[in-house]
Amino acid sequence: MPDLHNVIIIGSGPAGHTAGIYAARANLKPLMFEGMVRGGIPGGQLMITNDVENYPGFPEKVTGPDLMKRFRDQSLHQGVDVRSEDVNRVDFATNGGPFKVFAGDDNVEYHARTVIIATGAQAKWLGLPSESALQGRGVSACAVCDGAFFRKQDVIVVGGGDTAMEESMYLSGICNSVTLVHRRREFRASKTMQKRVFENPKIKIEYDSAVDEILDVSKGEVTGVRLKNLVTGELKEIAATGFFVAIGHTPNTDLFKDFLELHDNGYIKTKPGTAQTSVPGIFAAGDVQDFVYRQAVTAAGSGCMAALEAERYMAMLGDGH
Ligand code: NAP
Repeated sequence: MPDLHNVIIIGSGPAGHTAGIYAARANLKPLMFEGMVRGGIPGGQLMITNDVENYPGFPEKVTGPDLMKRFRDQSLHQGVDVRSEDVNRVDFATNGGPFKVFAGDDNVEYHARTVIIATGAQAKWLGLPSESALQGRGVSACAVCDGAFFRKQDVIVVGGGDTAMEESMYLSGICNSVTLVHRRREFRASKTMQKRVFENPKIKIEYDSAVDEILDVSKGEVTGVRLKNLVTGELKEIAATGFFVAIGHTPNTDLFKDFLELHDNGYIKTKPGTAQTSVPGIFAAGDVQDFVYRQAVTAAGSGCMAALEAERYMAMLGDGH
């Protein structure tokens, strides 16, 4: 029989590490799988963010990877057992646990009284080579994170849902102009959000348009975009220094979808105001259960909630640790 752990944390972004720090300080000896392939990279989405200026406590800006190194160092310092392995499969079928987690190249089986899921979400990208070449050099998937770097400049936003509307509105408060590019004539976003965008004089809209290429890879920075009109086939270039992709996120919930209740959009359902999932003893924190705020600081807060709730859950069951 594998050892029974108090808490297994899956994921190593701000939510996972905050859960780890709190669980370790509660003497729960948490085991964390930081993940190597599934869900991206250890450290989560901040690892692809350049400068972070909105994480409290860092008046001098900090880079995303630097901030995550600090999270990780603090986890290790507090005694979190961090394993650089992917979780391949879970089994949450046993009511009340132990819950099973299979990880690593040898698919080793681990047992836990509680599991905290903090696997995050990944921004969807268009998939153009110029997009990946210019990521962090003018291409971004988060206006709140990176918008301030484009103060008084011209930027492009791609998408037609609520995220694209919200990002365009946010950027219009900072930038000189926003060109919203959408592949159809109708937006998917709510009518209220659309109305705000239509009424905003700083936002121009390019309908029926696909991004043909982001310019200019040879210069190593964004200088504009070449659009293709999907009705006429016409190509046109628009100058801009920032390019924001806002075509949605995919929560990393593949491993859990057979065991937990999910929202229609694939995010894990938690009881409002808690980190509790539909299975007692399984908690979720951070972007994997949050499609509204999606900020590092809100993820960290929910990781703290998950650890405190896991501790209370074990105390309620009378499980020693
Ligand atoms: P979404 O509703 O799925 O919209 C994605 C948009 O991106 C769609 O307009 C889609 O075009 C477009 N798109 C997708 N793939 C594309 C591609 N490869 N190339 C070009 N365009 C592409 O995603 P979301 O806007 O992130 O919203 C996700 C959920 O969060 C929604 O339920 C939304 O209501 C919610 N949300 C709410 C708020 C709020 O209430 N404040 C804010 C943000 C998000 P098509 O329309 O042609 O498919």
